[in-house]
Order: sequence, then structure tokens, then C-alpha cells
Amino acid sequence: MSKVLIIGCGGVAGVAIQKCCQNSEVFESICIASRTKSKCDELKEKLEGKTNTKITTEKVDADNVEELVALIEKVQPELVMNIALPYQDLTIMDACLKCGTNYMDTANYEPEDISDPSWREKYERRCEEEGFSAYFDYSWQWAYKEKFEKAGLTALLGSGFDPGVTQAYCAYAQKYLFDEIHTIDILDCNGGDHGYPFATNFNPEINLREVSAPGSYWEDGQWVEVPAMSIKREYNFDQVGMKDMYLLHHEEIESLAKNIPGVKRIRFFMTFGESYLNHMKCLENVGMLRTDAVEFEGHKVVPIQFLKALLPDPATLGPRTVGKTNIGCIFTGIKDGKEKQAYIYNVCDHQECYQEVGSQAISYTTGVPAMIGAMMLLNGAWKKPGVYTVEEFDPDPYMDAMNKYGLPWQISEQPQLVY
Ligand code: NDP
Repeated sequence: MSKVLIIGCGGVAGVAIQKCCQNSEVFESICIASRTKSKCDELKEKLEGKTNTKITTEKVDADNVEELVALIEKVQPELVMNIALPYQDLTIMDACLKCGTNYMDTANYEPEDISDPSWREKYERRCEEEGFSAYFDYSWQWAYKEKFEKAGLTALLGSGFDPGVTQAYCAYAQKYLFDEIHTIDILDCNGGDHGYPFATNFNPEINLREVSAPGSYWEDGQWVEVPAMSIKREYNFDQVGMKDMYLLHHEEIESLAKNIPGVKRIRFFMTFGESYLNHMKCLENVGMLRTDAVEFEGHKVVPIQFLKALLPDPATLGPRTVGKTNIGCIFTGIKDGKEKQAYIYNVCDHQECYQEVGSQAISYTTGVPAMIGAMMLLNGAWKKPGVYTVEEFDPDPYMDAMNKYGLPWQISEQPQLVY
């Protein structure tokens, strides 16, 4: 029975919007607003007549707080779902505060312009104090905690799969499976094949920034940073098979390190094929992953943005991607005085996602929890003033909704551990 404003209409938002429309009892009315309004109109046309959710569309530049405020005042939503890019997290949070509206997103803040001196100064201090050098971190959004508390509003950060569902798995393990969690390994395996020599499965700019950054993990109360792709393991994934996976820095490690008491080590691994890594290395070596502007024939060009324009749009990979994803968390720790292990994971099939919503499984595994996170705020299950990540809430209603809305999970009590 709620009205929601959804910002962004790319691969992930496309799925989240369709899932909202499958759940019209909660999402009575949605407004889809993005930079390119024609994409919103196309999706509205596709969905109309097939859902009871009322859909409107708008154009918005989400980098502009005043434009956002005018839009929120016009639409009067209970919640803004930010499914644009991490660059817009702060402007959208600012607009929500001005309008008294709840907020959620799927990825933590990072700046588009990493040469901005005011950002750079804090970034360099953080690298020194915290010990990891990825461009993204939670400090910017955690700084809004008091403002959201005072305004009586909830901001839910990172309700995709990872971050997002992986943290719900951690909260579940803490609530039901362990008295003490000692280690967490988050494993993100995409066993899908889209047939292109090189493509990313979500926004190329954000994806390549993330995977080309140095890796890091949390151990004994501090960050350990290692060169990008320097820690490799093999793992035999249920329903996918043997894959190479590499240790990456990932945002949920930062919040889990704060919120899982007594945890000694948290690592994040993602699978990559040889072709992907060779292409990425080559692009990096020739400067195509640079995020600063270079002068070209009188124009300013940001190489990674130009590269994005050349690569396949992840939203178009659905029809050609076959295979499965397997994403989850392996825990070790103590239950009832005994050592224990558990692995909570989901397996998702690319073609089944395509049949249901016309997209590949990466957009699906992110878009479904975006809708579920929004539902948790709208139905009151997770409503508390402040700024929170997923593991800070009761996992039960979220985990039940995952089973209901297309991402069922399972638990293995004797998993292969990662050494
Ligand atoms: P896309 O590039 O496919 O879509 C981004 C959308 O945001 C596009 O519709 C784009 O508009 C719009 N947009 C960009 N800038 C602005 C702006 N200034 N104002 C208004 N709209 C804007 O990205 P994805 O769908 O792949 O990713 C969406 C988000 O999901 C990202 O933040 C990504 O990091 C996150 N993600 C999270 C995951 C998780 O598990 N937690 C996994 C995968 C992704 P236009 O069409 O004009 O470009």
C-alpha cells in the first residue's frame, strides 16, 4: 500500500522494478525516474496491463539535489530506492533528508571524480588510518547516521546480493547457527557464459573500478591489503563446478567487521575466467581503466567511461547468458562448545532469470533483494531511524522473502573450506 520513487532504470533497476510489480500489494504505485527517460517509458509500456502497480515515469539528474528535491516533492513517495550508481548516493540521501523520505541503495558511495580535492584529502587519510585503498567505503554514508536518526528516517545501505543478502546470511548464522563466528569467507561465483570475449555483468565502470583495486581482507582487528588478484584459490561450487577465484576488497567486509562480534577473519572471493583477467590486465596496461580525464583532440575524455560506451550493456546480456551463479558465505566458529562450519548459499540460473524477467542472473540476484529491502522498510519489519546495513536487522523476514521471490537459499553443514 505504498508509493515508491525508483531512481535508475538500468540492468539492476529493471529487475527490481519488475519484482515490485509482481508485489503490487506492497508496491501500489511506483515512479521510475532516470537520466534517460525513454528507458523508463519503455519498461512502463512493457509492464502495463500485466500488473496492478500504478507506474509513472520522470526524468531526473540525480547528481543535482535541487532537481531531486523537486521530484520527491512532486511524487510524495514513502521511500526512494536508489538503483542508479554509487556516485549518486550522497545527493539522493541529502534530498531524502530535505524531504523527510526514507532511503535505500545497493552499493556504497564512491565519487565519480577521484581528483576532487575535498574527497581526496579524506581518502588519503582513510587509506593511512584504515589500511585499504579502494575508492569506496562506508564512512561517507555512516556520517549521515545522526541526521537520519533525528529526522526519524531509515536509510538501508547495500540491499543487493553482495553487499546485501550475504549480510543477511551472516545475521542468520549469528542468530541460529553459531554462538561465536570466527571466520567468514564470502564466495561470489558466476559460472555463466555470455559468449563475448569480454563484458562485465553489471555497470562496467563500477565493476572494473572494483576488481582492479588492490585486494584486502580483515584479520585480527585490522585490514591486510594485497596487490590486485594476487591471492587465488580453486573452489568446487555446487551446480557450477571447479572455478578459479580471487580475493577482492569488498564493502560488506567493512560493516561485518563492526557488526559481527568476535569475528577473527573476513575475506571475499570472486571467480574470474582467464580471458576476463587477460582483457582487464591489457586494458589497465594501456590506460583504459583510468578514471581521470585526459585531453584528446580538444575534448576531455575519461578512459573508463569511453570504454563503458564500447562494451556490451550488461542489461542486454540476458538472452545470450547460460549457466549458473552460486553466491554465499562459509562460516567457521563454535556452537554449544563445539567447533562448527556452515555454508549458506543461493544458486541462480541465468536462463531461468531471462525467462522470468528478461535479464541475466547478476541483475536478477541484485534486483530481487533491492525489492525485498524496500519491502522490509515499507511493511515496517525493518524500520528504525538511522543508517544501517543489512546485518543490523532481523534476518528472518528477509530470508523468508528470498525464498518466496526467487532466490531460495540452502545450508551445507560440511562445506569444503577455503584454505
Ligand atoms: P546500469 O549502468 O545498468 O544502470 C544505472 C542506471 O542509473 C541507468 O539507468 C542510468 O541512466 C542511471 N543513472 C546514472 N547516472 C544517473 C544520474 N546522474 N541521474 C539519474 N540517473 C542516473 O547499472 P547497474 O544496473 O548494473 O547497477 C546499478 C547499481 O547496482 C550500481 O550502483 C551497482 O554498483 C549496483 N550493484 C550492486 C550489486 C550488489 O550485489 N549489491 C551487484 C551489481 C550491481 P542512463 O540510462 O542514462 O545511463
